[in-house]
Amino acid sequence: MDLGNMRNMLLKAHGSVLESTFVVENFESFMDAVGSDGVWAMMESALTARDRVGVQDFVLLENHTSEVAFIDNLRKRFKENLIYTYIGSVLVSVNPYKELEIYTKHHMERYRGVNFYEVSPHIYAVSDNAYRSMRTERRDQCILISGESGAGKTEASKKVLQYYAITCPASDQVQTVKDRLLQSNPVLEAFGNAKTLRNDNSSRFGKYMDIQFDFKGAPIGGHIINYLLEKSRVVHQSHGERNFHIFYQLIEGGEEDLLRRLGLERNAQQYQYLVKGNCPKVSSINDRNDWKVVRKALSIIGFSDDEVEELLNIIASVLHLGNIQYGSEDGGNAYITVDTQIKYLSRLLGVDNCILKEALTHKKITAKEEELMSPLNQEQASSARDALSKAIYGRTFTWLVNKINTSLAFKEEFFSGKNTSVIGLLDIYGFEVFQNNSFEQFCINYCNEKLQQLFIELTLKSEQEEYEAEGITWEPVQYFNNKIICDLVEEKFKGIISILDEECLRPGDANDLTFLVKLEDTLGSHAHFLTHKLADGKTRKVMGRDEFRLLHYAGEVNYNVNGFLDKNNDLLFRNLKEVMCMSENKILNQCFDREELTDKKRPETTATQFKNSLAKLMEILMSKEPSYVRCIKPNDAKQAGRFDDVLIRHQVKYLGLMENLRVRRAGFAYRRRYEIFLQRYKSLCPDTWPNWDGRLVDGVSTLVKHLGYKPEEYKLGRTKIFIRFPKTLFATEDALEV
Ligand code: ATP
Ligand code: MG
Repeated sequence: MDLGNMRNMLLKAHGSVLESTFVVENFESFMDAVGSDGVWAMMESALTARDRVGVQDFVLLENHTSEVAFIDNLRKRFKENLIYTYIGSVLVSVNPYKELEIYTKHHMERYRGVNFYEVSPHIYAVSDNAYRSMRTERRDQCILISGESGAGKTEASKKVLQYYAITCPASDQVQTVKDRLLQSNPVLEAFGNAKTLRNDNSSRFGKYMDIQFDFKGAPIGGHIINYLLEKSRVVHQSHGERNFHIFYQLIEGGEEDLLRRLGLERNAQQYQYLVKGNCPKVSSINDRNDWKVVRKALSIIGFSDDEVEELLNIIASVLHLGNIQYGSEDGGNAYITVDTQIKYLSRLLGVDNCILKEALTHKKITAKEEELMSPLNQEQASSARDALSKAIYGRTFTWLVNKINTSLAFKEEFFSGKNTSVIGLLDIYGFEVFQNNSFEQFCINYCNEKLQQLFIELTLKSEQEEYEAEGITWEPVQYFNNKIICDLVEEKFKGIISILDEECLRPGDANDLTFLVKLEDTLGSHAHFLTHKLADGKTRKVMGRDEFRLLHYAGEVNYNVNGFLDKNNDLLFRNLKEVMCMSENKILNQCFDREELTDKKRPETTATQFKNSLAKLMEILMSKEPSYVRCIKPNDAKQAGRFDDVLIRHQVKYLGLMENLRVRRAGFAYRRRYEIFLQRYKSLCPDTWPNWDGRLVDGVSTLVKHLGYKPEEYKLGRTKIFIRFPKTLFATEDALEV
């Protein structure tokens, strides 16, 4: 018996290609070692293995509606270090919290050009599948990675990028693009990631990255869009958390003369902005090493020495700003107690000493067409200083992304822009519920509602609509359409963001609590909105008087309105902006534009900017074919081998995995237009070979009957054949090869 036949026999013995990856993957080496006699033994061991490792596609679970069975399967696989499982084409990934030997070049090769279901589930399979669809169908793709903080989104997105960097064809120019794409990660992580209680390397911004490919499938460029950096971290960190990595990297790793030039000491404890969380060192992070990595990455991406110098001047300036201390004069006006920081700042930023000092203690007001400098009190001055630090850091981060984009933009002198396709990678914050939820969680959870909406549009809804359009009978699956919650947040005039903006604009007594009252008045009767007030005038005890609750698709979250107006306004006093416009630092020059000073139009609020950028993101994603990676965090202790049922059940719920599985089970794994199906497989049936003259549907019907498809395995629609299980199609594919 030849190898191919024996392999097929084994596959049949298991009844499904899906379940026999174990056999397939080990087959050749096994045969080498034990010869054909050993095959039967292997069959036995494969069957036992199946019990031990569970199914690799949840669709195959016998009790597919049971959450317990779902989690059992996930646990079985996790214990065997099998962190990936499919729900159809959706990849579920559980963070192993340890290095697994599954990301080698050898593994990449194994997944290259191989059908999704012929090898075990892997992020490389998803990467390869998107890549092949892009190439064969010429359709832009996107890979959407979601999950809560620490679930492994960023790691997954890096694996995808590495896969393309290693497996795609390359010339010298392409290699440069690949290097830059890869090196953008350490740079953005240094400036945009931080140690939080949930993740030692938590992304504090959302990221969408396009990788552009030429017609040969080689990466020729890229583009990054960043979303909502958590700027507040620059000036404040909760206990056990840190500021952005770059500050510690510079202080730990910066060369002696560099630190001297920047006026910095090699001791994070010296800096007010670095001590709030009381956590300067993290065991899993080597700041000194990371500094070297980042410096190298900056130069590979193409930052000049001057640019790096200017960038570091800014980072050091933020630390100096944080150390400015205010005293209070007799009349209550703020004054700066020591001039040391001002001296460094004026040198590093290239601004006049006195002007800077005045701007940090005064506010410019216009009275009767005259401009006056009105002194600030100590508290106001501190918050003006912090607002400046946040603005400088936030804008520099955006500058950094733009700079990386310039370096990644495909170069016409090397590549033709024709026939290019794109794979987009989305690594964005997952749903967040903390003890105290504020404006940031509100934005993040709104973002997740939008992504869920997209998921519904692209998979659940479109899947059902297609069956309807094709006249396929099937049992509709009930799912919750969260559009109602998206509207609650974003609707014009009466959505939460509109009401918030209105309060931000209203002169006089507007504050966080008046905002809450407006919300109550407008949305009090909405099914997904609650406050402490009950309809009968009584008070809901479990809620604070400064909170509102949203019933998200993923669960209930109470938001504290404290700080909503300030964070949404994100105001920086005009005179501080003016000083920044005067700066000789070239980066700040680009970040603070003089036009901003003369522009009478009010800048968009944070929430509205975010809303608009999400609307654009949805448009980008809607135009592409999506693949989903759903990341799960196994425990809160960042520990390998620990599988916390309660935590995982919660994630399974809000990632909508059971719903996903129900739709998948009810649906059909494959669909092909009749002409394509017939063209590809007509050689397998004497009646359709070499050509079928009749109606396409009859040709396909004749063909599949000849192939022995059972009635429950397929359905014929108006223009397409729908095949329920992947194994059916694979058997047909295999027949082609014989
Ligand atoms: P956040 O939303 O906070 O940015 P995240 O989902 O991006 O979280 P990651 O930073 O990707 O989470 O992962 C957290 C940590 O978990 C990583 O630093 C790494 O230690 C570990 N980890 C994640 N995925 C893997 C993996 N596939 N193999 C090994 N370790 C992993
Ligand atoms: Mg991340």
